[in-house]
Amino acid sequence: MARAPGDARVALVTGANRGIGLEVCRQLADRGLRVILTGRDGKSAETAAAELRERKLDVTAMPLDVADTASIRACEREVAKRFGRVDVLVNNAAVLIAEGAALLKSPVAEFRQTFETNVFGVLGVCQAFVPGMMTRSYGRVVNVSSGAGQLSSMTTYAPAYSISKAALNALTIQLAASTKGRGVLVNSVNPGWVRTRMGGRGAPRSVEDGADTIVWLATLPSNGPTGKFFSDRREIEW
Ligand code: NAP
Repeated sequence: MARAPGDARVALVTGANRGIGLEVCRQLADRGLRVILTGRDGKSAETAAAELRERKLDVTAMPLDVADTASIRACEREVAKRFGRVDVLVNNAAVLIAEGAALLKSPVAEFRQTFETNVFGVLGVCQAFVPGMMTRSYGRVVNVSSGAGQLSSMTTYAPAYSISKAALNALTIQLAASTKGRGVLVNSVNPGWVRTRMGGRGAPRSVEDGADTIVWLATLPSNGPTGKFFSDRREIEW
């Protein structure tokens, strides 16, 4: 059924002031969604959103530090006031610290710091916005994971980051099972190695390529998959 004008789906993207998240906002807004572009630094989120608005895209900036419970609560309140709902949630924010560290020599603090954003942050944001999706019987949740978190091919690369992304994939399975039959589709995606601050200049993929499968999952039809892991629009093993 076609949606009435002004009744477009509302998408919230975390860590969207730059990199893949920013491109996801652009592509979602280009498809007619109303986009809430969030970033832990409100000013840089606003600068990024203003650039997209100049291209006539419906993009609103909001501060959101996913590692800060008070910030999640504040964002939840602001979204409720200004939009009334979130239909599409893209959990994109992440940190990659101690990339070259050895597992047995890494301070546990580096794991805690990584998990605060990459895992607990995602859980907190889901707890804020997914219950409303279940009530309204519509939701799309995309957890931006990584090939580094794929258990079947895991090496010694970036232990804290890789283990956090494997945990994120487990969160995807749990959330998909918790929302099954309620109109909410939850999936993980590996965007590939992308030219961003995290991926570096030598990465082979553009942000457009990196955002493609994320946006595809964010706009799945109601008979789309849930509880799966994707790369280049194809299911991959965990
Ligand atoms: P990026 O350019 O480094 O961007 C990361 C974003 O996350 C930034 O906007 C950053 O904000 C934000 N962020 C970090 N901690 C946050 C927090 N506590 N609250 C809110 N936002 C926070 O990285 P990217 O390459 O675009 O990565 C996007 C996603 O793709 C990540 O989940 C990453 O793990 C995944 N990924 C990337 C690659 C790659 O090759 N690039 C490969 C596989 C997976 P600030 O600007 O404030 O730091």
